[in-house]
Amino acid sequence: MRRILLKWQQLILSLGCLILIVSCQNSYSATNSSVLTVATDPTFIPFEIKNAEGNLEGFDIDLMNAIAKAVKLTVKFESLPFDGMISTLQAKKVDAAISGITITPERRQTVDFSRPYFKAGLAITVRADNQDIQDIKTLQGRKIAVQIGSTGADFAKTIPNAEIRTFNSGPDFFQDLLNGNVDAAISDAFATIYAINNGKLKGLKVVTNLLTEEYYGIATPKNSPHLDVINQGIAKILANGTYKQIYRQWFNTEPPNLPESAPHS
Ligand code: GLN
Repeated sequence: MRRILLKWQQLILSLGCLILIVSCQNSYSATNSSVLTVATDPTFIPFEIKNAEGNLEGFDIDLMNAIAKAVKLTVKFESLPFDGMISTLQAKKVDAAISGITITPERRQTVDFSRPYFKAGLAITVRADNQDIQDIKTLQGRKIAVQIGSTGADFAKTIPNAEIRTFNSGPDFFQDLLNGNVDAAISDAFATIYAINNGKLKGLKVVTNLLTEEYYGIATPKNSPHLDVINQGIAKILANGTYKQIYRQWFNTEPPNLPESAPHS
């Protein structure tokens, strides 16, 4: 009888241990959450925008969801103004940011970037009837609109005697350009050309070829535990054709080859 009781005690004890191990594992996976909080500023057509129903859509949104799916994560997007994105990442308030963010040496000092996921560049935009502004030279001494904290804003600072007006987002400064308050805007070419071609920016045109060659990356806080897995996701969707499919869907053309790391940054 005593022996049977002892056996029972042992069984209950080992069962208890098993339950403890399983629940420990569960709480481990709960703290290593599979949900990635990703910041974006949905004012950058066609990369991130809010549709009529108030839902996020765009190239970056599809891309981020595809990357997450490839590495079995889920994404929770958080809307944030572009200008505050880098400091929010620095404060580790979000896990990552995707918002057409150009990989630059300055930004690299405070955040980390994934491998490049989009080849981009800056362009000059003027009113459709403007014949005087053709290039950087003819921009000298003009009123130029830029988005605060953008690579376009940095570029504008290098133009002699330019009078720079800063705005919070693209739609604002294009309106000012249309109203005649500024002579030109310097902004991301792809986003601007897309908006003009899709009738969202009537009365404007892009002049000259690209002013710069830039690459967008997904930004994370420095030494983020998520960066490796994000890079694995990008590699997967580049290899399995998903990247190409999303690119074609938004830009109606074949994507260019992407370098594994951004040149000059
Ligand atoms: N690519 C530009 C930058 O990083 C602008 C991006 C944006 O407006 N969302 O500064």
